[in-house]
Amino acid sequence: MTRYIFITGGVVSSLGKGLAAAALGALLQARGYKVRLRKLDPYLNVDPGTMSPTQHGEVFVTDDGAETDLDLGHYERFTGVSARKSDNVTSGRIYSSVLARERHGDYLGATVQVIPHVTDAIKEFIRGDVTDEDFVLCEIGGTVGDIESLPFLEAIRQFGNEIGTERALFIHVTLLPYIPAAGELKTKPTQHSVKELLSVGIQPAMLLCRSDRPIPENERRKIALFCNMKQERVIAALDVDTIYQVPVSYHEQGFDDQVLAYFGLEAKDEPDLSMWKEIVQRVRAPEGEVTIGVVGKYTSLIDSYKSLGESLVHGGIANNVRVNLKWMDSSIFDSEDAVVHLEGVDGILVPGGFGERGTEGKIRAAQFAREHKVPYFGICFGMQMAVIEAARNLAGLRGASSTEFGSTDIPVVGLMTEWTRGNEREVRNVESDLGGTMRLGAYDAVLTEDSKVRDIYRSPVISERHRHRYEVNINYRNQLEQAGMLFSGLSPDGILPEIVELPDHPWFIGVQFHPELKSKPFDPHPLFTSFIRAAIEQSRLV
Ligand code: GLN
Repeated sequence: MTRYIFITGGVVSSLGKGLAAAALGALLQARGYKVRLRKLDPYLNVDPGTMSPTQHGEVFVTDDGAETDLDLGHYERFTGVSARKSDNVTSGRIYSSVLARERHGDYLGATVQVIPHVTDAIKEFIRGDVTDEDFVLCEIGGTVGDIESLPFLEAIRQFGNEIGTERALFIHVTLLPYIPAAGELKTKPTQHSVKELLSVGIQPAMLLCRSDRPIPENERRKIALFCNMKQERVIAALDVDTIYQVPVSYHEQGFDDQVLAYFGLEAKDEPDLSMWKEIVQRVRAPEGEVTIGVVGKYTSLIDSYKSLGESLVHGGIANNVRVNLKWMDSSIFDSEDAVVHLEGVDGILVPGGFGERGTEGKIRAAQFAREHKVPYFGICFGMQMAVIEAARNLAGLRGASSTEFGSTDIPVVGLMTEWTRGNEREVRNVESDLGGTMRLGAYDAVLTEDSKVRDIYRSPVISERHRHRYEVNINYRNQLEQAGMLFSGLSPDGILPEIVELPDHPWFIGVQFHPELKSKPFDPHPLFTSFIRAAIEQSRLV
């Protein structure tokens, strides 16, 4: 029997609902249950793929090629369950499916309305693609009270009513602000937020109250009384020093015990959280530290590099070091001498990106890393920039560029117009829509024998997630290889370069895919583990 847990947020945004959901998923797993996590986003974009990273944060790509909300990254990092297309939906997608059905004549005769047509489509999504999961956790994006959320709240209310309280739990995440002048944690915003939920017919059975200090019994009693729930189901979600402490901390507050109690499930033994404790221990007490310079364009919002930042932390966990991140806006390198900013870093990483602005800076960062033998990790765009740099400065192709920045005589990076996915042929041209048309999701790559990456992965074939429209042009392979850049990973048909490396450099690797999307704190990605190890070596040199 599958049970559903709906997680809503109130009072303010950015309360960490996604992390709370992910941590509850991990705790239920530790109790032996099979979980699935989903995100329902009220905005009107069909998916976040076309949104600016500095507004919306990272776009998390699933194996099956969906561009999804970054919370799905938290879900995967905490539970290890690979997210699927069917785990994230937006109002935009719901409405476009309803409108497509209307045009098709599926509702013939009916007036198409939010209730029941839109709410039915939302319920269909919640119910869909579920098999033997014990728990499906659905996080509703946004804050209760937003106009956009209403159809979602109405849909989960109906859904809860249909399956019954014994199978549906509503958890509301709120904030208890501390007011120094009063010397108190204030419960009123929480009371109001629960009232707001009640006004749409949802009585949460449990509250997760974010606060920077423990909740005194008196306040807890007050919240329980006014919000109409058992006192022990008012859970304190205290601030923690590392996100990997969240499962342990929530468990200490009785979160998972109360969830099981709600469903009438016996919480037999203590769950084994030693894995999380070990991770936290490594994060808190590392044996050394390294500094990685991340040269990107979206550094004004660190959320745009969410998985990347976490993967670097994972690389640190694997090597028992703290990884300090020095975020650098690539435009600071547009003037040549700005490379002084890179002196002293133990590794340089150029992440994914789009568009021409800031690219000369990224190319300079790659050049600095190559010439000064500093470990370099180029991810997607960062690989393309490293190839342009090598073409210009190693292979003598001075005008080398990417067609992403306009037409060029030496397109070492060009638009992908055709590729295969399984048995399907994918075709694109310059006129194609921008939404959902990149080369997305998991694709295999074949690794060259005796290459560094083959050694790192310890496998001849790998599968990694992709999100790109341009590719390194295979026609320049010979020239680049003669100049010293090895094409060490290719698509199985040998047409798309997937990995390049410099054999006579301590660690210089560019990958066309996004390894950061698959790294977990309990299973750090081998490329990040290896990159951080190289950075440790580098730190011993300087
Ligand atoms: N802009 C590049 C492309 O579309 C790189 C994309 C990325 O870094 N994710 O190919």
